[in-house]
Amino acid sequence: MLNNNVITLFDNGEHKFIFLGSERKSIESIPTNQYLIIHKEEGVLLDPGGVHVFPRVLASVVEFIDLGKIKHIFYTHQDPDVSSGITLWDTVVDAKFYISKLWERFLPHFGVFKNDKIVPIEDKGGKIKFKDGEELIIIPAHFLHSTGNLILYDPLSKILFSGDIGVSVFPKNQEKIYVENFNEHIKYIEEFHKRYMSSNIACKKLASIIKKYDIDQMVPQHGAIYKKQQFNEFLKWFENIKCGIDLIDSIYGNEK
Ligand code: FE
Repeated sequence: MLNNNVITLFDNGEHKFIFLGSERKSIESIPTNQYLIIHKEEGVLLDPGGVHVFPRVLASVVEFIDLGKIKHIFYTHQDPDVSSGITLWDTVVDAKFYISKLWERFLPHFGVFKNDKIVPIEDKGGKIKFKDGEELIIIPAHFLHSTGNLILYDPLSKILFSGDIGVSVFPKNQEKIYVENFNEHIKYIEEFHKRYMSSNIACKKLASIIKKYDIDQMVPQHGAIYKKQQFNEFLKWFENIKCGIDLIDSIYGNEK
């Protein structure tokens, strides 16, 4: 069982991309992954998660950076396992929270929260800018699975944070940190993608966008990390899957 495996995925001395680990709590059916980017003196948290993982994530973050230096928190979408800890984070950091404009007015329902801390991201995507001019690219990935869904590319580390795209669900005690053989990995990703992703139209659209980026690793919000080769194999699989409304009859149980 994975338990708080913290791994530095990229480090060039002034820019780091850190996997903060993953832990299966008894209430969870699948554990969540959290990530921290540190660029010089600025920290960025990616999908730091729900209320119940907050103490562990907080403890991991402070191993690497002072909380006062966390300036940006990015959410791929509105799900509780992604963002329900928002009011807790707001009490310990002085950061801006980036999320699709579609979810801006929903976030306060996780607790009392000032909207001036939220940076609503337009449908076409956006950027997170560091003080020295370097930036992270927010890429639209709508309907994969959320209606207003965003992922994030870090050009310095060449890592794509993909949120729920590429998520794997392992049987208990068989969790892996990296995808090894992609064909053998399909059984851990197929069910989730077929039901949660909205349609092949959305998958193809995203594949056509992310092919333009030079991606060395893809890191999802649950399950194993993809290195370059496995990512390329995933992308071929992903742009051809039938999912969501493509499978509406079998989902409703009245397949012809
Ligand atoms: Fe989700």
